Amino acid sequence: MAAPITTVSDSKESQGLNLIAAHSHIRGLGVTPDTLTPKPNADGLVGQQQARKAASVILQMVKEGKIAGRAVLISGPPSTGKTAIAIGMSKGLGEDTPFTMLASSEIFSLEMSKTEALEQAFRKSIGVRIREESEVIEGEVVEIQIDRSVTGNNKSGKLTLKTTDMETLYDMGTRMIDSMTKEKVMAGDIISIDKASGRITKLGRSYTRSRDYDAVGSDAKFIQCPDGELQVRRETVHTVSLHEIDVINSRTQGFLALFSGDTGEIRSEVREQINTKVAEWKEEGKAEIVPGVLFIDEVHMLDIECFSFINRALEDELAPIVIMASNRGSTTIRGTNYKSPHGLPLDFLDRVVIISTHPYQADEIREILSIRAQEEEIDVSPDALALLTKIGQETGLRYASNLITTSHLLSQKRRAKEVEVGDVQRSFQLFYDPQRSVRFVSEFEKRFIGEDGGVTLGAGA
Ligand code: ATP
Repeated sequence: MAAPITTVSDSKESQGLNLIAAHSHIRGLGVTPDTLTPKPNADGLVGQQQARKAASVILQMVKEGKIAGRAVLISGPPSTGKTAIAIGMSKGLGEDTPFTMLASSEIFSLEMSKTEALEQAFRKSIGVRIREESEVIEGEVVEIQIDRSVTGNNKSGKLTLKTTDMETLYDMGTRMIDSMTKEKVMAGDIISIDKASGRITKLGRSYTRSRDYDAVGSDAKFIQCPDGELQVRRETVHTVSLHEIDVINSRTQGFLALFSGDTGEIRSEVREQINTKVAEWKEEGKAEIVPGVLFIDEVHMLDIECFSFINRALEDELAPIVIMASNRGSTTIRGTNYKSPHGLPLDFLDRVVIISTHPYQADEIREILSIRAQEEEIDVSPDALALLTKIGQETGLRYASNLITTSHLLSQKRRAKEVEVGDVQRSFQLFYDPQRSVRFVSEFEKRFIGEDGGVTLGAGA
């Protein structure tokens, strides 16, 4: 199952959802598990094989917990699948590995400082897996007493199951099953339990046979109590993010803030206390750190202060892997007068691993548009798909992909079963792509509202 994806602010949740909806066809990176070789068309991803291979190598390292505190930049022209690849990575992460998406422009509009917003995004991307051992509540305790006539003082303890309450055990996910015959251990059976491994040996009712039984199910284990009784304890595992622990422990916010998303700023003392506590749990074997992924889209929108923050945060012991995306070439670093590749300061760029994406060929565009149409359950005639592909080549994948939806609406109006060339043509006339829009603006510039808010009615007006 895929890792949960969080977006950074509640107010921007819908933006995050839109971002994900455009990529709903992506189910992974589409690589063969052993060799990490990308298939031409798999898991909803088409082409871009080199970038997918690189992403899957990084993903493998994330899964092995080896790559925390590094930064990766996915760079390439617009609509070449940078976000799609990041989403593909998120789907390949373990269920409890956090994946946080942040559109850089978001952090300038939140009701908190930029660095606080980044700090929260970092801490949302670090999971803490906590193990808790809970005793089974009274009544559920399965009483298994030592049968002295059989065991004497034998340390391994031959035990007679006195309970008839085997169902409770089975409900808890514990199965005691003969490894060969798959026969269940029944009430009244005599078994021995190896305390270290939890392995069960059934000795049989008549003490004549001895066979191996497996205790299957990882969330319950047997504990032998001093009085000779056995109890079954359930081991539960929860994974929460460091940010969630911060919010719950922040006196000014409280845990309700987790539901409203209105967490405000969190004091640094709270975070320090949490870090100390988590380190203690880790030391005691009660918790494990699960470094996740923080995906920062449009990274060139961040300014120099944000970059210094990220540079420092990556050094931290508790850092996720940061994956950034940019479609800019050489551009000004926000907050400075300097230009640099992708708008990233050079010292930061130095520590970043870069994956590039390339423009698509016509057949790849056709494949992707066809996948999108299937995802939206829209039938498109071959000619209409060919026209959409041509539009995609000239104006970009995203615009062509949006035309599928609008053309479908038009085809529905004429009660047609599939989208035809005419629907695409009309849709193309109704909705402008960015280039045509820019051309329109420059042709009629004088009639638009200027930056000072005044309306110029043009020379002839
Ligand atoms: P930008 O620089 O404008 O943010 P981007 O490189 O992040 O663009 P995406 O948003 O990933 O581009 O791609 C645009 C659309 O095309 C999305 O719906 C995406 O899921 C889809 N897409 C892009 N590349 C692929 C691909 N290789 N396989 C399948 N779908 C893709």
